[in-house]
Amino acid sequence: MTIAKTHHAEKVVRIIVRIGPLSGIEPLLLESAFNISCAGTLAESAEFLTETLPILVLCNNCGAESEATTNNLLCQSCGGYNTKLLSGDELILARVELENAD
Ligand SMILES: [Zn+2]
Repeated sequence: MTIAKTHHAEKVVRIIVRIGPLSGIEPLLLESAFNISCAGTLAESAEFLTETLPILVLCNNCGAESEATTNNLLCQSCGGYNTKLLSGDELILARVELENAD
């Protein structure tokens, strides 16, 4: 964990990751991958939390922003299918909480 070393941390307490439903990332799989990759590191006992991000689309027809679902990216305002994805496909490292030695 480079971040922990940079901050002279004793250990990583908590890691929070935000996942968009369209990212194709399964939170549980990510968590188990995290646990495996952190074994024997400063983050070994860290709590791993995931937050799901909403899917937001911008309508090219009426200009409205609306929340969409994985299988339905239509504009909620006019029902148009000509939409642009604003968010929902990202994987963001939101926060890393460290415990310092001093
Ligand atoms: Zn629309």
